[in-house]
Amino acid sequence: MNFIERDKQNIWHPFTQMKTAFPPVHIERAKGAMLIAADGIQYIDAVSSWWVNIHGHSNEYIANRIAEQAKKLEHVIFAGFTHTPAIELAERLIELLPEHFSKVFFSDNGSTSVEVAVKMALQYWHNKNCFQKTKIIAFENAYHGDTFGAMSVGGKSAFNKPFQEYLFDVTHIALPNENNIEQLKTQLEALVKEYNVAAFIFEPLILGAGGMLMYTPEHLDELLKIANAHSVICIADEVMTGFGRTGRTFAINYLKQQPDIICLSKGITGGFMPLGVTVCSERIFEAFYSDEKEKTFFHGHSYTANPLACEAANASLFLLSEEKCRTEINAIVSAHVNFLQMLKNLKKVTNVRMQGTILAFEIITPEGSSYFNTIQKEAYSYFMERGVLLRPLGNTIYIMPPYCITPEELNKVYEVILDFISQLTFTP
Ligand SMILES: *Cc1c(COP(=O)(O)O)cnc(C)c1O
Repeated sequence: MNFIERDKQNIWHPFTQMKTAFPPVHIERAKGAMLIAADGIQYIDAVSSWWVNIHGHSNEYIANRIAEQAKKLEHVIFAGFTHTPAIELAERLIELLPEHFSKVFFSDNGSTSVEVAVKMALQYWHNKNCFQKTKIIAFENAYHGDTFGAMSVGGKSAFNKPFQEYLFDVTHIALPNENNIEQLKTQLEALVKEYNVAAFIFEPLILGAGGMLMYTPEHLDELLKIANAHSVICIADEVMTGFGRTGRTFAINYLKQQPDIICLSKGITGGFMPLGVTVCSERIFEAFYSDEKEKTFFHGHSYTANPLACEAANASLFLLSEEKCRTEINAIVSAHVNFLQMLKNLKKVTNVRMQGTILAFEIITPEGSSYFNTIQKEAYSYFMERGVLLRPLGNTIYIMPPYCITPEELNKVYEVILDFISQLTFTP
């Protein structure tokens, strides 16, 4: 049996209909933005391997720091014990984040960072004996992860339909735009005045898996102002947007109003190791800081603050702080701006938009917009056959490259997209 047959025999892949999916591509090595398959074919990773990679694959500096750490301390229980990589990472994050953030809670991935945030928010009110504060507000089309709490706060979607009746009740509000902002503000005012709202969770500036839906910091500020005025705990899910993705270190850096809690994962380790963190303000932490045992935050994972993951994050954050990385991000942004102008002249696409290193648009198809739009598979294959990994969300095509992508590689990504659009036969 070859590797692909052995894969098929024993492995169940994520987000994959195993019956109809193409056989997986066997990647043997990767360097920079390039994935190198076992058969020698190369693919430009234009989605940063599900949005996690920022400094390129197999980055030598990060790899070496993980290797050194592995020889020193691979893991230790994090209750009752601590270690240097976690201490340094927490310091670094607190330094990078806006001033009011004060405590870092570790977990393993984006979904767990959201679970932690939601549990912190709910227990915050419980610890304060405000038992009526149980309602959570979130955006329609939000995506916060695949565990039950994260699914609950996520928008209703085909992904979580089978579990709908097990998900807790969340009030979903529309994403703000110029037309609905006043109405949304009125709606939010009315909701928070019921004094039962515990938290408002949102992906700042871009709803990722929901279709790369973008909205302005000004509109978010207006909503946050209302929530903050009524002491609602605001949770920024920056699992996707964190660490330079939107052009600034965090998407909340574009805001005047600030959240109480922020969730980070994906790019935090440069894409090397699974790690999630939930960082909160002193206000949240204080509600748990007590002589009463019941006020403890009873949450933790076996691999909490894994030293290898923390060290990967320390290495990645060092690279992120270097001038070189800033230059790379700016280069992607300028290239995107040009490409965006080109796309805007095309008849077969609509809704061309960008925020920092993320560019997205919809292909106008007879089927209309849906995650299950058949153009998804067609586009995916077209790009793959030409050595570019892009994974459209339905008819939404987006680019989210590692910051280290070269201008030549990025141009190739743009070219295959333009080629794909020009060979489409239906007329909009
Ligand atoms: C990917 C994502 C998550 C879930 O992270 P996982 O590591 O896949 O569990 C949560 N929130 C947002 C905004 C994401 O993009």
